Amino acid sequence: MHYFRYLKGELYAEDVPVRSLIEEYGTPLYVYSHKTLTRHLKAYNDAFMEIPHIICFAMKANSNSAILRLIANHGGGADIVSGGELYRALRVGIPPEKIVYAGVGKTDDEIRYALSKRILMFNVESEQELERINDIAGQMNVIAPIALRINPDIDPETHPYISTGLRMHKFGIPIENALEYYRLARGLENIELIGVHKHIGSQITKVTPFVDALQRILVLIESLKAEGINLRYLDIGGGLGIQYKNESPPHPKELAQKLLPLLKGLDITIVMEPGRSIAGNAGILLTRVLYLKKGEDREFVIVDAGMNDLMRPTLYDAYHHIVPVRKNRRKLITADIVGPVCESGDFLAREREINTVEHGDCLAVMSAGAYGFSMSSNYNSRPRPAEVLVKDGEHYIIRKRETYRDLVRGEMIPDFLDK
Ligand SMILES: *Cc1c(COP(=O)(O)O)cnc(C)c1O
Repeated sequence: MHYFRYLKGELYAEDVPVRSLIEEYGTPLYVYSHKTLTRHLKAYNDAFMEIPHIICFAMKANSNSAILRLIANHGGGADIVSGGELYRALRVGIPPEKIVYAGVGKTDDEIRYALSKRILMFNVESEQELERINDIAGQMNVIAPIALRINPDIDPETHPYISTGLRMHKFGIPIENALEYYRLARGLENIELIGVHKHIGSQITKVTPFVDALQRILVLIESLKAEGINLRYLDIGGGLGIQYKNESPPHPKELAQKLLPLLKGLDITIVMEPGRSIAGNAGILLTRVLYLKKGEDREFVIVDAGMNDLMRPTLYDAYHHIVPVRKNRRKLITADIVGPVCESGDFLAREREINTVEHGDCLAVMSAGAYGFSMSSNYNSRPRPAEVLVKDGEHYIIRKRETYRDLVRGEMIPDFLDK
């Protein structure tokens, strides 16, 4: 569900015609809907109301400060994967006791930073990481709260690049070895074992993989209890899918209906890490048509947004609806919608049926609020787009369009080249 819709043939973001945003801010432009974001957060909170829970928004989906502040204002926390994300989260006021830290490659500096800020817990992904955290905590004279990320070996039935919970993946600790790792962790002086974590993948459109994975983790929790290890947090990860095309992913309520019976009476706080399902359908990318070009066997619609602005189509072969900002009845064509970047992989859609377009027409790439701007780059020295947040009939710039000057910020030319 989202609040982008047509009114008399014009695309609106909540109560704002997106054409007016394009006039004011130009293209390419990311636009987010406040009401959609808060609705999604509320859907999770309502669904899991009966049990103690923390919603730690997966920041890698969208790390804009205004969006994070909105999350914080609604009681949300953050799931981080780097020191940079920790910095962003703290800066906007996400309480450290609602921050969980995953990722297979935490550096010493990052570990030190997170320990000094007293985050809720590290989701530890390997034995060596556990030992590093223990050593660093020792040097700092603090106790590190940790969960082990357990890989339950469940197939989430999603795109291979975004599935993470199978034996073959680099993430987590294989469930067969979980007990052994917990015993090891228990023996470490500067570690406090407080939780267990799993995250099996992204864009999951069925409830079953969540249930299956949780059941395996619950068995583990019982075995741990038997050994006197009583965990306080069960982090069930993120991964709930959204509708990009014709998927019908479960609503958080449906997920809760299946998971709550398993979780009730557990005396444990549930941590959730939704990213895409909060932000994905809350954002769109607006772009302008530059040229229409007839190739040998297909047409190309060349637009001013490229793979550097939205990488998902080329990275995951992802589908995004692309719709006109102003509806029309022009003839249908089948075209590749491509950007200006000098790569054959620079496309937003391939073999897509759309109403024909002309120079200057504007298109909206839907469902671009997650893994959109956050994955963007300056490749081809393209300044990154502006980001705007719409709330009811108002709009707010939340990131300025980059300038050419921004592109060279931090670059230096050594003296010896200066002649
Ligand atoms: C990416 C990620 C998430 C968020 O996944 P979504 O599919 O966006 O909900 C949550 N937890 C971890 C550990 C992740 O790596």
